[in-house]
Amino acid sequence: MLTRREWGVSAAALLGACAAPRDPSPEPEAPAGPLYVDLHIDTPSRILNEGLDLAESREYTHVDIPKMRKGGLHAGFFAVSTSARSQTPLEAVKQALRIIDTIVEEVRRHPAELFMGTTADDVASARSGGKIAVFIGVEGGHMIDSSLEVLRQLYRLGARYMGLTHSGNTPWVGAAEYDDGPAGLTDFGREVVKEMNRLGMMIDMSHASDRAFYDVVETSAAPILNTHAACRAVAGHPRNLTDDMLKALAQNGGVLGVAYYAAMLDDDYRSRLPQLREIGRRRGAVRKQFADDKQRLSEELWKLEKAEVEKIGRLPLARLADHIEHAATVAGIDHVGIGCDYDSVGLKVPAGLDDIGETPNLVAALGERGFSADEVEKIMGGNALRVMRKAEEAAA
Ligand SMILES: [Zn+2]
Repeated sequence: MLTRREWGVSAAALLGACAAPRDPSPEPEAPAGPLYVDLHIDTPSRILNEGLDLAESREYTHVDIPKMRKGGLHAGFFAVSTSARSQTPLEAVKQALRIIDTIVEEVRRHPAELFMGTTADDVASARSGGKIAVFIGVEGGHMIDSSLEVLRQLYRLGARYMGLTHSGNTPWVGAAEYDDGPAGLTDFGREVVKEMNRLGMMIDMSHASDRAFYDVVETSAAPILNTHAACRAVAGHPRNLTDDMLKALAQNGGVLGVAYYAAMLDDDYRSRLPQLREIGRRRGAVRKQFADDKQRLSEELWKLEKAEVEKIGRLPLARLADHIEHAATVAGIDHVGIGCDYDSVGLKVPAGLDDIGETPNLVAALGERGFSADEVEKIMGGNALRVMRKAEEAAA
């Protein structure tokens, strides 16, 4: 077993190893370092909209195969993310099917590196077999169009968690940041939660209202996830969990995947976001202008990401570690995980974590904070894996 110091050393060794010249056809080998299961990766919509190929590493992608390898990822939940506000529910169902197809097809194109994961055991095989397990997570209950039949079909297509809300209310459950819908879970919402328990589909409360969070904790027979958020006592973003919610999550056996979005991690940083309005408007124009040239679109969007961080700066990695430490203190070490939210928030992530390949810097930072190797293993993936197993047991 490694000491906490040695984790730092092994992370540095991993970084060094990656800079060395590589055998052009290496055998896939299990990366050194802790188990790493990331609960929320937002790359699928970019694959669909920008025509990305995961085998190609480019400056403007946060997540691709070489970077996942370098970062030591064993399993990742790829998000099926669709607008809850600018689409009808039926359009959202169709878009969900397109994104799921995008994920499955992209995995099919890279069989030596990736495979579709659907069970907790797949995480263990990913670690021992040297391929990365790609899981599907649906980000928003609007994508079932209030239909248990659609919910079951999404499960059958491979979705292993569903966030109950996204950016906007779902007719049967309230979202954080929006108060024009139900406050918590409606009666039908409770049916959805119970059906997800029965299927073995994990429940993600990342974009849900506080009331919905407590309703679901009370209703769910299985531990829940909050795949990408942070701690409200450290930064007051309305999607973050209060200390009371962290304690309820611990009681439930669930896990908070701490997200890297700088505006969720730091109030000062968030207060600077209004300075980005003008750049934000240019993003819409760029999308229109380069709709037919996907690579150019990626490049132009990346210029805007860079312009944004030039304007409002970067957040130190220590701020992310503050949230992880706070969650581990209040909820307990068994209830903290990682949900990077890469490919959704541009460069508005902590410095030193520019893409998933830089994950060893986080592992090293956790070691420096005094977390033991066992504790780092839990944070980086062990806790997420436990929730996956519990969901399967509750279904059985
Ligand atoms: Zn999200």
